[in-house]
Amino acid sequence: MFDVVAFDADDTLWFSEDSFRKYENQFVDVLSPYVSEGTDIKAALVATERSNIEAYGYGVKSFGLSAMEAAITLTNGKILASDLQHILRGVREHLTEPVRVFDGVADVLSRVSSQFRTILITKGDLAHQTRKVETSGLSHHFDHVEIVLEKDPTTYSHVLKSLDINPQRFCMVGNSLKSDILPVLAIGGFGVYVPYEILWELDHAEAPPANTDRFVELPTISQVPEWLVQQRA
Ligand SMILES: [Mg+2]
Repeated sequence: MFDVVAFDADDTLWFSEDSFRKYENQFVDVLSPYVSEGTDIKAALVATERSNIEAYGYGVKSFGLSAMEAAITLTNGKILASDLQHILRGVREHLTEPVRVFDGVADVLSRVSSQFRTILITKGDLAHQTRKVETSGLSHHFDHVEIVLEKDPTTYSHVLKSLDINPQRFCMVGNSLKSDILPVLAIGGFGVYVPYEILWELDHAEAPPANTDRFVELPTISQVPEWLVQQRA
């Protein structure tokens, strides 16, 4: 059924959203003394991120710029430089923290890559994503690593075409219906959805996949190799 299996990275192979939550909470703590009770600081931050995605793209640096902007707006320009420094330190810490790979992932990738052409497709900041891939200890499992700006049908089509992959022989594994599954189904591929307990507000899908035999949800990534093999039987 498949020649090629692609994996998403953030919250599919390693922890990502947990750290964003940590630095969101830190942002809320820094801003709390400045705003009136009942102000939804987190909602203001998410709204700023949403309005900046097109200009900044995804990732920690974009988060940092949006956090600075939201801090200035929420405080009517009164935030202290020392508090902005605190937010900036968090951005640097977040960018340089070690990758924490999920349990069992190395084994999953070694089993899958022994049977299928295996690639990694992740979106976000080129420098940060490249560093994570290179320091994850997982990069040798992949025939190819693609870091994209957006995960939509057009992007997947371009990537598959450039790698000479037939979409109908392509299976994507990931934790986001919006980014990893729906666009792949839309171009005729297969999607294996392995949800993670936290999903970024801006990565929620508006609609679940339509009834199709090209989609499956598995509770853990450890079940992926066996499922793939079963499809071959
Ligand atoms: Mg992901």
